[in-house]
Amino acid sequence: MEQSELMVRRIKEGTVIDHIDEGKGLQVLDALRIDGKDGSLITVALNVPSGKSKKKDIIKVENKFLKDDDTNKIAIISPKATINIIKNYKLIEKRRVALPNEIDRIFRCTNPDCITNSTEHIESVMDLIDKDGMILKCRYCARILDVNEIKYN
Ligand SMILES: [Zn+2]
Repeated sequence: MEQSELMVRRIKEGTVIDHIDEGKGLQVLDALRIDGKDGSLITVALNVPSGKSKKKDIIKVENKFLKDDDTNKIAIISPKATINIIKNYKLIEKRRVALPNEIDRIFRCTNPDCITNSTEHIESVMDLIDKDGMILKCRYCARILDVNEIKYN
């Protein structure tokens, strides 16, 4: 058994986000607003060997079952990620992430005049207008944004 499989299996209750693209684990945490401040046990494994000369990141969040709405945010950061729901050490649900039609909060609009960058504390909402090219459009100012070029909130 691979070491990475052991890490996935050793959780009692909670969610394991597996097959995150190498180097994207911290962005995923940030997008899901997982910061451990609620006292939950979180394990982050970066650069875990995965197959031949490949690496991945893994996140385990104990005692928390992530919903589709949350996990679909991951798709835009790491489309190959899988979500494993664990109860009593057993894998009870495994799902792939799916690209959402819209994405709120996690990206910041690059338009400095956009209302989401003002002091009004309006959270960003963007439509994913091109799922292959990963192109977003800000719903407030209509600016076109390339996922690979914009900053996370
Ligand atoms: Zn905007």
